[in-house]
Amino acid sequence: MDQYRIAPGTTVHLADHDPADESWCPDGKDGARSAAKKATRRLEELQELLYAQGRHRLLVVLQAMDTGGKDGVIRRVFEGVNPLGVKVASFKKPSPADLAHDYLWRIHPHVPGNGEIAIFNRSHYEDVLVVRVHSLVPPERWERRYDHINAFERLLADEGTTILKFFLHISRDEQAARLRSRLEDPAKQWKFAKGDLEERALWDDYVTAYEAALSRTSTAAAPWHVVPADKKWYRDFVIGRILVDALESLQMSFPPPADDLAGIVVE
Ligand code: AMP
Ligand code: MG
Repeated sequence: MDQYRIAPGTTVHLADHDPADESWCPDGKDGARSAAKKATRRLEELQELLYAQGRHRLLVVLQAMDTGGKDGVIRRVFEGVNPLGVKVASFKKPSPADLAHDYLWRIHPHVPGNGEIAIFNRSHYEDVLVVRVHSLVPPERWERRYDHINAFERLLADEGTTILKFFLHISRDEQAARLRSRLEDPAKQWKFAKGDLEERALWDDYVTAYEAALSRTSTAAAPWHVVPADKKWYRDFVIGRILVDALESLQMSFPPPADDLAGIVVE
């Protein structure tokens, strides 16, 4: 079950993680698809419980290279959940107001409250990824951020938040294929930015930055998972199962009614 979880203290080499791996699902693509569907349905029930009980909070962090599939995971894995209890926060280039504050200032308002699931589509990790790769702040500043991030996540966990972080791991070839299909398909062209090619040229620098982040910020309270993501069906299966397992381990149950219902009749 934990084969994609990065144990705290592990030095991650992404070259050792196969983006096309599908070994966790013995029944191949069809088996994974139906297992993923089951997980999606179970996730609906568990989210209903989470919301009804209003005690736990779940934070899901999604990071990936461009085209890695973050949007697809949000669309598919969370397909059935009730929008009442789930919020998605997408973190783009910081605004002038964001930049006038510490880098966690824009993040904290989006963490989940009681009974909520928050999904981060990109996150505070950009501040040790794109920021590091493009030298947007001097090294001594981003270098300190791994510790800040661990402290921030520990604060959230100590106060009752379950945190699961997923790096959607695609290969460089798969990225090329996905960028090409964005370029060719009028329904996908809106997703293509010229800048994506500039970022692609920095692939190795991003690998280095991701390896540092994954190695230094996978903790017991907020573990990273390196999810093989070349195959979308496998990616969705893995993430769905990990979310279901995590929510099941909270052993939630529906709360008792607020009022004594004995003898009440609805006429
Ligand atoms: P997209 O997810 O394709 O809409 O792109 C969002 C862009 O915002 C990506 O290029 C990110 O690298 C960039 N971005 C997100 N957070 C930051 C940050 N803290 N500093 C600089 N750029 C960021
Ligand atoms: Mg983009």
